[in-house]
Parts: sequence; C-alpha cells; structure tokens
Amino acid sequence: MIKYKLICKKCSLSFDSWFATSKEYEKLKNRNLLTCHSCNSTQVEKSLMAPKLISREKINISNKNFKVNEISKKIKEYQKFIKSNFKYVGENFAYEARSIHYDKKNKDKGIYGIASKKEIKELREEGIEAESLPWIEDKKN
Ligand SMILES: [Zn+2]
Repeated sequence: MIKYKLICKKCSLSFDSWFATSKEYEKLKNRNLLTCHSCNSTQVEKSLMAPKLISREKINISNKNFKVNEISKKIKEYQKFIKSNFKYVGENFAYEARSIHYDKKNKDKGIYGIASKKEIKELREEGIEAESLPWIEDKKN
C-alpha cells in the first residue's frame, strides 16, 4: 500500500488516498477514475509531497521525525529552485498574477508570493493557473 497526497486543481482541496501500488495510481489516473472528494473533478494530481519525490532517499519510514526531515529537505530544495527562477512578489501575488494574465505583460520569470486559498480559488475561476505549494519559512531571513 502506498499513500499519496492528492490535490484537486479545480477547488484546491488536498486529501490523502491509498493505492495498492504506484502503478495503480497511474492506471486510475489514466482512466479518469481519480476524482476530487469535494467537487468530483478529475483534475486531481499528486502533490509535491508525494512519495515519488522522496523515494530516492533511503528513508526509514518507521522513524517519523526522520521522514519529516527528509520531506522538509525536499521542500527546501524546491524552494531554492523557485527562489532563483521566480520573482518574489510577497502579498501582491494575486494582483501580480492578474496583471500578468490580463495585461499580457512580458514575463521572463514566473512569480511567487503569498496568497490565501480563497485567492488561489478566485484566480483559478478566472482561468489563471496558480499552484499552491507547501512552504517552509526560512528563519534565517
Ligand atoms: Zn475539487
């Protein structure tokens, strides 16, 4: 059995789901049999915290703290990538995302910032693709 954290791209609900194998997940996904618990959308994706991303590490699953450390390490690596490839817009995320979308601003870089679940939902309803990612605050900053 394998547990995946799934995220609905439509209503941004995230929920855990169990599969016999990772192949079973692919099979259900390909047949559009994976549906959101809330809105029934088939636009359900594995989130970044899916085991696929951490399976390369030899982790001792029985040791919970160690697992959490591995996950946070992965998230931090991803954050590093985002920080160097995306422009930080802080709390203005929703505003900036709209101005890129509606003004067709030339974007040589993607943006990242802070948005509430409600804001993300509103952006998606307007047809703006916004992803929410798990984020760990860097206390050194
Ligand atoms: Zn949904």
